[in-house]
Amino acid sequence: MLKINEIFHSIQGESTYAGRRCVFVRLTYCNLRCTYCDTEYAFDDGADKSIETIIEEVEGYNCNLVEITGGEPLMQNESLKLMKNLCDLNFEVLLETGGSLPIRDVDDRVKIVMDLKTPSSGMMKKNLYENIDFIKKSDEIKFVMGGRNDYEWAKEVIEKYQLNNKCQILFSVVFGQLEPVTISEWILEDKLNVIFQLQMHKYIWEPDKRGV
Ligand code: SF4
Repeated sequence: MLKINEIFHSIQGESTYAGRRCVFVRLTYCNLRCTYCDTEYAFDDGADKSIETIIEEVEGYNCNLVEITGGEPLMQNESLKLMKNLCDLNFEVLLETGGSLPIRDVDDRVKIVMDLKTPSSGMMKKNLYENIDFIKKSDEIKFVMGGRNDYEWAKEVIEKYQLNNKCQILFSVVFGQLEPVTISEWILEDKLNVIFQLQMHKYIWEPDKRGV
């Protein structure tokens, strides 16, 4: 059994898969408390569902792309089995994880989108840097930034761990806190090899709308 907060169908908004139709399986619980969290409702609320029931619901959307998200999906061990079973059924599976729990047992077929928490998140000390050893070329590491301090920190981490040689790097902003134009200019000035992304769903729908 897994405790599931919600399952819904929407447009993927936060990775190189942005713009694609996607079924989101949001798992309950998170071990972090980021200052900018917009899914606090997933910290406790949810209902127990079997893997079979979850897969049945996912199949009902007739959509090949599935994202396992949270909260923090890796807090529930059975999420590993859910991802494996979805891969066995030939779904394209994305895992959105906060980067504080081990990813080493995640099925190789899953594309991992892993945060490295920046200083303004308040959760920087929770980053599990050993995870970088298990990141695949097809995975993505995401930095969500609230200001220049976060940006400078991200540059240092990219350099220190040679992240550009490991996988795709995503830069994103805390909605309403750092202007997209500001960070875009910094990226151009520094000629960084990163993908800047907006949380697309927050522009399509109301920024605080749930289930999109
Ligand atoms: S990791 Fe994600 S769900 Fe957890 S507190 Fe941070 S932003 Fe919220």
